[in-house]
Amino acid sequence: MNELLPDAGPDRDPSCPVCEAARSPLFALAPDRLFGIAAGTFRLYRCSCCGCVFQSPFPDPDTLSTWYPKPYWWTESRGSGLAGFLGRLERTYREFVAMDHVRFLERHASGAGRTLLDIGCSSGTFLHLARRRGFLPHGIDVSPQAVEAARRQYDLPVRQGDVASDAWEGRTFDFVTMFHVLEHLPDPCAALSCAGAMLKPGGSLILQVPNVSSCQARIFGARWYGLDVPRHLVNFTPQGLRHLLDRAGLSCRIVRRFSLRDNPASLASSLAPALDPIGRKGRGKSMGAAVEGALELCYFGLFLLALPPAFLEAAVGRGGTIWAHAQRPPAPG
Ligand SMILES: [Zn+2]
Repeated sequence: MNELLPDAGPDRDPSCPVCEAARSPLFALAPDRLFGIAAGTFRLYRCSCCGCVFQSPFPDPDTLSTWYPKPYWWTESRGSGLAGFLGRLERTYREFVAMDHVRFLERHASGAGRTLLDIGCSSGTFLHLARRRGFLPHGIDVSPQAVEAARRQYDLPVRQGDVASDAWEGRTFDFVTMFHVLEHLPDPCAALSCAGAMLKPGGSLILQVPNVSSCQARIFGARWYGLDVPRHLVNFTPQGLRHLLDRAGLSCRIVRRFSLRDNPASLASSLAPALDPIGRKGRGKSMGAAVEGALELCYFGLFLLALPPAFLEAAVGRGGTIWAHAQRPPAPG
Protein backbone atom coordinates (compact mmCIF):
# COMPACT_ATOMS: atom_id res chain seq x y z
CA MET A 1 0.00 0.00 0.00
CA ASN A 2 3.01 2.28 0.31
CA GLU A 3 2.79 4.80 -2.52
CA LEU A 4 6.45 5.42 -3.08
CA LEU A 5 6.90 7.29 -6.32
CA PRO A 6 9.96 7.86 -8.50
CA ASP A 7 12.29 10.75 -7.78
CA ALA A 8 10.82 13.99 -9.15
CA GLY A 9 14.17 15.33 -10.34
CA PRO A 10 16.90 17.28 -8.59
CA ASP A 11 15.59 20.76 -9.39
CA ARG A 12 12.24 20.04 -7.71
CA ASP A 13 13.52 18.37 -4.55
CA PRO A 14 13.17 20.77 -1.61
CA SER A 15 15.38 20.91 1.46
CA CYS A 16 14.07 19.48 4.74
CA PRO A 17 12.37 22.02 7.04
CA VAL A 18 13.45 19.98 10.09
CA CYS A 19 17.16 19.15 9.62
CA GLU A 20 17.79 21.41 6.60
CA ALA A 21 19.29 18.55 4.54
CA ALA A 22 19.16 19.32 0.81
CA ARG A 23 17.21 17.52 -1.90
CA SER A 24 14.53 15.41 -0.28
CA PRO A 25 13.02 12.95 -2.77
CA LEU A 26 9.33 12.81 -3.60
CA PHE A 27 7.46 10.41 -1.32
CA ALA A 28 3.90 10.57 -2.63
CA LEU A 29 1.14 12.56 -4.26
CA ALA A 30 -1.84 12.45 -1.94
CA PRO A 31 -5.34 13.97 -1.80
CA ASP A 32 -7.38 15.21 1.19
CA ARG A 33 -8.78 11.79 2.15
CA LEU A 34 -10.25 12.73 5.53
CA PHE A 35 -12.57 15.61 4.69
CA GLY A 36 -12.31 16.08 0.91
CA ILE A 37 -12.26 19.87 1.42
CA ALA A 38 -8.98 20.67 -0.34
CA ALA A 39 -9.04 20.06 -4.08
CA GLY A 40 -6.30 18.26 -5.99
CA THR A 41 -3.30 16.30 -4.80
CA PHE A 42 -0.41 17.41 -2.62
CA ARG A 43 3.30 16.68 -2.98
CA LEU A 44 4.89 14.98 0.01
CA TYR A 45 8.66 14.56 0.36
CA ARG A 46 10.62 12.32 2.71
CA CYS A 47 13.96 13.64 4.01
CA SER A 48 16.75 11.13 3.31
CA CYS A 49 18.57 12.30 6.42
CA CYS A 50 16.02 12.55 9.30
CA GLY A 51 13.12 10.67 7.67
CA CYS A 52 10.54 13.42 8.26
CA VAL A 53 7.78 13.69 5.63
CA PHE A 54 6.72 17.17 4.62
CA GLN A 55 4.51 18.95 2.16
CA SER A 56 6.06 21.24 -0.43
CA PRO A 57 5.37 23.92 -1.31
CA PHE A 58 3.78 25.06 1.96
CA PRO A 59 0.43 26.82 1.45
CA ASP A 60 -0.06 30.44 2.45
CA PRO A 61 -1.91 30.86 5.80
CA ASP A 62 -5.19 31.97 4.18
CA THR A 63 -5.30 28.89 1.96
CA LEU A 64 -4.36 26.61 4.86
CA SER A 65 -7.22 27.96 6.97
CA THR A 66 -9.74 26.94 4.29
CA TRP A 67 -8.65 23.29 4.58
CA TYR A 68 -10.11 22.91 8.09
CA PRO A 69 -13.76 21.98 8.56
CA LYS A 70 -15.72 23.72 11.28
CA PRO A 71 -15.65 22.38 13.86
CA TYR A 72 -12.22 20.64 13.71
CA TRP A 73 -12.48 19.85 17.43
CA TRP A 74 -14.80 17.79 19.52
CA THR A 75 -17.96 19.21 21.10
CA GLU A 76 -20.54 17.15 22.91
CA SER A 77 -23.66 16.25 20.90
CA ARG A 78 -26.51 17.38 23.08
CA GLY A 79 -30.09 16.25 22.85
CA SER A 80 -32.37 13.51 24.05
CA GLY A 81 -32.80 9.90 23.04
CA LEU A 82 -30.11 7.98 21.16
CA ALA A 83 -28.21 11.11 20.01
CA GLY A 84 -27.94 12.39 23.58
CA PHE A 85 -26.89 8.97 24.89
CA LEU A 86 -24.17 8.67 22.21
CA GLY A 87 -22.99 12.20 23.01
CA ARG A 88 -22.59 11.34 26.71
CA LEU A 89 -20.91 8.04 25.83
CA GLU A 90 -18.43 9.83 23.57
CA ARG A 91 -17.70 12.39 26.29
CA THR A 92 -16.97 9.59 28.79
CA TYR A 93 -14.69 7.85 26.30
CA ARG A 94 -12.83 11.08 25.44
CA GLU A 95 -12.26 11.91 29.10
CA PHE A 96 -11.07 8.35 29.76
CA VAL A 97 -8.43 8.46 27.00
CA ALA A 98 -7.45 12.09 27.78
CA MET A 99 -6.55 10.95 31.32
CA ASP A 100 -3.60 9.19 29.66
CA HIS A 101 -2.28 12.70 28.86
CA VAL A 102 -2.88 13.93 32.40
CA ARG A 103 -1.08 10.94 33.94
CA PHE A 104 1.88 11.62 31.65
CA LEU A 105 1.94 15.20 32.88
CA GLU A 106 1.77 14.10 36.52
CA ARG A 107 4.75 11.79 36.07
CA HIS A 108 6.85 14.81 35.03
CA ALA A 109 5.53 17.19 37.69
CA SER A 110 8.35 16.77 40.16
CA GLY A 111 8.67 20.46 41.15
CA ALA A 112 6.25 22.50 43.21
CA GLY A 113 4.86 24.59 40.35
CA ARG A 114 1.66 23.46 38.67
CA THR A 115 0.90 26.25 36.20
CA LEU A 116 0.03 24.80 32.81
CA LEU A 117 -0.46 26.26 29.35
CA ASP A 118 -1.97 24.07 26.63
CA ILE A 119 -1.25 25.44 23.15
CA GLY A 120 -3.96 24.32 20.72
CA CYS A 121 -6.27 23.44 23.60
CA SER A 122 -9.31 22.90 21.38
CA SER A 123 -12.53 22.56 23.40
CA GLY A 124 -10.60 21.97 26.64
CA THR A 125 -11.10 18.32 27.68
CA PHE A 126 -7.44 17.87 28.68
CA LEU A 127 -7.26 21.15 30.63
CA HIS A 128 -10.50 20.32 32.42
CA LEU A 129 -9.09 16.97 33.58
CA ALA A 130 -5.69 18.47 34.50
CA ARG A 131 -7.43 21.05 36.70
CA ARG A 132 -9.16 18.23 38.59
CA ARG A 133 -5.67 16.85 39.38
CA GLY A 134 -4.38 20.11 40.82
CA PHE A 135 -2.90 21.88 37.78
CA LEU A 136 -3.67 25.55 37.13
CA PRO A 137 -4.89 25.48 33.54
CA HIS A 138 -4.51 28.11 30.81
CA GLY A 139 -5.21 27.64 27.14
CA ILE A 140 -4.61 29.09 23.69
CA ASP A 141 -6.38 28.15 20.49
CA VAL A 142 -6.47 29.83 17.09
CA SER A 143 -10.17 29.16 16.68
CA PRO A 144 -12.59 31.61 18.37
CA GLN A 145 -15.25 28.86 18.28
CA ALA A 146 -12.95 26.43 20.14
CA VAL A 147 -12.17 29.14 22.72
CA GLU A 148 -15.87 29.76 23.21
CA ALA A 149 -16.55 25.99 23.53
CA ALA A 150 -13.80 25.56 26.17
CA ARG A 151 -15.19 28.46 28.20
CA ARG A 152 -18.80 27.31 27.87
CA GLN A 153 -18.28 23.56 28.44
CA TYR A 154 -15.67 23.74 31.20
CA ASP A 155 -15.39 27.39 32.30
CA LEU A 156 -11.67 27.42 31.46
CA PRO A 157 -9.35 30.46 31.13
CA VAL A 158 -8.63 30.19 27.41
CA ARG A 159 -7.55 32.94 25.03
CA GLN A 160 -7.53 33.14 21.27
CA GLY A 161 -4.13 33.13 19.62
CA ASP A 162 -1.36 31.02 18.16
CA VAL A 163 1.99 30.01 19.58
CA ALA A 164 3.63 33.25 18.43
CA SER A 165 0.90 35.68 19.47
CA ASP A 166 1.80 36.18 23.17
CA ALA A 167 -1.87 35.72 24.08
CA TRP A 168 -0.91 35.42 27.80
CA GLU A 169 1.10 38.67 27.70
CA GLY A 170 4.56 37.50 28.68
CA ARG A 171 3.49 35.08 31.42
CA THR A 172 5.61 31.97 31.90
CA PHE A 173 4.46 28.52 33.03
CA ASP A 174 5.82 25.40 34.72
CA PHE A 175 4.38 23.27 31.93
CA VAL A 176 3.58 23.94 28.31
CA THR A 177 1.83 21.22 26.33
CA MET A 178 1.31 20.89 22.57
CA PHE A 179 -0.69 17.85 21.60
CA HIS A 180 -0.86 17.30 17.85
CA VAL A 181 -0.12 20.94 17.02
CA LEU A 182 3.45 21.06 15.70
CA GLU A 183 2.72 19.05 12.56
CA HIS A 184 0.22 21.73 11.44
CA LEU A 185 2.70 24.64 11.58
CA PRO A 186 4.79 25.96 8.67
CA ASP A 187 7.77 26.88 10.88
CA PRO A 188 7.96 24.25 13.65
CA CYS A 189 11.39 25.40 14.85
CA ALA A 190 10.18 28.96 15.45
CA ALA A 191 7.07 27.53 17.16
CA LEU A 192 9.21 25.52 19.58
CA SER A 193 11.32 28.58 20.36
CA CYS A 194 8.12 30.52 21.17
CA ALA A 195 6.83 27.64 23.33
CA GLY A 196 10.20 27.47 25.12
CA ALA A 197 10.04 31.21 25.83
CA MET A 198 6.72 30.66 27.64
CA LEU A 199 8.37 28.22 30.06
CA LYS A 200 9.84 29.15 33.41
CA PRO A 201 13.55 28.23 33.69
CA GLY A 202 13.65 24.45 34.23
CA GLY A 203 10.03 24.15 33.03
CA SER A 204 8.79 21.27 30.89
CA LEU A 205 7.50 21.23 27.35
CA ILE A 206 5.43 18.15 26.55
CA LEU A 207 4.80 17.43 22.91
CA GLN A 208 2.84 14.84 21.06
CA VAL A 209 2.99 14.28 17.29
CA PRO A 210 2.25 11.36 14.95
CA ASN A 211 5.28 9.13 14.36
CA VAL A 212 5.94 8.86 10.64
CA SER A 213 8.50 6.09 11.26
CA SER A 214 5.96 3.91 13.10
CA CYS A 215 5.00 0.47 11.82
CA GLN A 216 1.51 1.67 10.91
CA ALA A 217 2.90 4.65 8.96
CA ARG A 218 5.25 2.36 7.03
CA ILE A 219 2.49 -0.15 6.25
CA PHE A 220 -0.09 2.38 5.05
CA GLY A 221 2.31 4.81 3.33
CA ALA A 222 0.51 7.83 1.88
CA ARG A 223 -2.81 6.35 3.08
CA TRP A 224 -1.77 6.51 6.73
CA TYR A 225 -4.36 8.46 8.72
CA GLY A 226 -1.63 10.17 10.77
CA LEU A 227 -0.46 12.17 7.72
CA ASP A 228 -3.80 14.05 7.52
CA VAL A 229 -2.96 15.50 4.10
CA PRO A 230 -2.96 18.48 3.50
CA ARG A 231 -3.42 19.82 7.08
CA HIS A 232 -0.14 18.33 8.34
CA LEU A 233 2.72 20.27 6.83
CA VAL A 234 5.54 18.35 8.57
CA ASN A 235 5.33 14.78 9.91
CA PHE A 236 8.07 13.86 12.35
CA THR A 237 10.35 10.96 13.20
CA PRO A 238 11.80 10.78 16.74
CA GLN A 239 15.20 11.67 15.26
CA GLY A 240 13.80 14.72 13.46
CA LEU A 241 11.90 15.96 16.50
CA ARG A 242 14.96 15.61 18.71
CA HIS A 243 16.98 17.62 16.19
CA LEU A 244 14.34 20.36 16.06
CA LEU A 245 14.17 20.65 19.87
CA ASP A 246 17.96 20.97 19.90
CA ARG A 247 17.76 23.79 17.36
CA ALA A 248 15.17 25.52 19.57
CA GLY A 249 17.51 25.35 22.60
CA LEU A 250 15.52 22.77 24.56
CA SER A 251 16.97 19.58 26.01
CA CYS A 252 14.92 16.60 24.94
CA ARG A 253 14.12 13.02 25.83
CA ILE A 254 11.70 11.04 23.70
CA VAL A 255 9.91 9.05 26.32
CA ARG A 256 7.04 7.14 24.82
CA ARG A 257 5.59 5.92 21.57
CA PHE A 258 2.13 4.92 22.70
CA SER A 259 -0.97 7.05 23.14
CA LEU A 260 -4.21 5.35 24.14
CA ARG A 261 -6.18 8.09 22.45
CA ASP A 262 -4.32 8.14 19.16
CA ASN A 263 -2.46 4.93 18.28
CA PRO A 264 -5.35 2.46 17.97
CA ALA A 265 -7.56 5.21 16.50
CA SER A 266 -5.10 6.08 13.73
CA LEU A 267 -4.73 2.39 12.90
CA ALA A 268 -8.53 1.91 12.85
CA SER A 269 -9.05 5.04 10.74
CA SER A 270 -6.32 4.00 8.28
CA LEU A 271 -8.11 0.66 7.81
CA ALA A 272 -11.61 2.19 7.49
CA PRO A 273 -11.41 5.95 6.81
CA ALA A 274 -15.15 6.14 6.11
CA LEU A 275 -15.86 5.19 9.75
CA ASP A 276 -13.58 7.79 11.32
CA PRO A 277 -15.75 9.95 13.64
CA ILE A 278 -13.85 13.22 13.04
CA GLY A 279 -13.99 12.67 9.29
CA ARG A 280 -17.71 11.89 9.37
CA LYS A 281 -18.47 15.03 11.38
CA GLY A 282 -16.16 17.16 9.23
CA ARG A 283 -17.80 15.98 6.01
CA GLY A 284 -21.09 17.13 7.56
CA LYS A 285 -23.34 14.47 6.00
CA SER A 286 -25.31 13.00 8.86
CA MET A 287 -27.25 9.85 8.02
CA GLY A 288 -29.56 10.04 11.03
CA ALA A 289 -29.07 9.04 14.66
CA ALA A 290 -29.61 5.28 14.15
CA VAL A 291 -27.11 4.93 11.27
CA GLU A 292 -24.61 7.23 12.96
CA GLY A 293 -24.96 5.16 16.15
CA ALA A 294 -24.33 1.94 14.23
CA LEU A 295 -21.24 3.50 12.60
CA GLU A 296 -19.98 4.63 16.03
CA LEU A 297 -20.34 1.08 17.34
CA CYS A 298 -18.55 -0.39 14.28
CA TYR A 299 -15.73 2.10 14.76
CA PHE A 300 -15.47 1.33 18.46
CA GLY A 301 -15.22 -2.41 17.62
CA LEU A 302 -12.45 -1.67 15.13
CA PHE A 303 -10.71 0.50 17.76
CA LEU A 304 -10.74 -2.46 20.19
CA LEU A 305 -9.36 -4.79 17.50
CA ALA A 306 -6.61 -2.25 16.77
CA LEU A 307 -5.46 -2.17 20.41
CA PRO A 308 -3.22 -5.31 20.36
CA PRO A 309 -1.26 -4.37 17.18
CA ALA A 310 -0.97 -0.77 18.44
CA PHE A 311 0.49 -2.02 21.73
CA LEU A 312 2.79 -4.39 19.85
CA GLU A 313 4.32 -1.76 17.54
CA ALA A 314 4.90 0.52 20.55
CA ALA A 315 6.53 -2.36 22.45
CA VAL A 316 9.13 -2.71 19.67
CA GLY A 317 9.76 1.06 19.69
CA ARG A 318 7.76 1.87 16.54
CA GLY A 319 4.46 3.15 17.97
CA GLY A 320 2.22 5.58 16.07
CA THR A 321 2.76 8.56 18.39
CA ILE A 322 5.85 10.35 19.66
CA TRP A 323 5.67 11.86 23.13
CA ALA A 324 8.56 14.16 23.87
CA HIS A 325 9.45 15.70 27.19
CA ALA A 326 11.80 18.67 26.73
CA GLN A 327 13.09 21.18 29.25
CA ARG A 328 14.13 24.78 29.25
CA PRO A 329 17.56 24.99 30.90
CA PRO A 330 17.38 26.00 34.58
CA ALA A 331 18.40 29.54 35.55
CA PRO A 332 22.20 29.82 36.08
CA GLY A 333 23.35 29.69 39.68
ZN1 LIG B 1 15.47 16.14 7.56
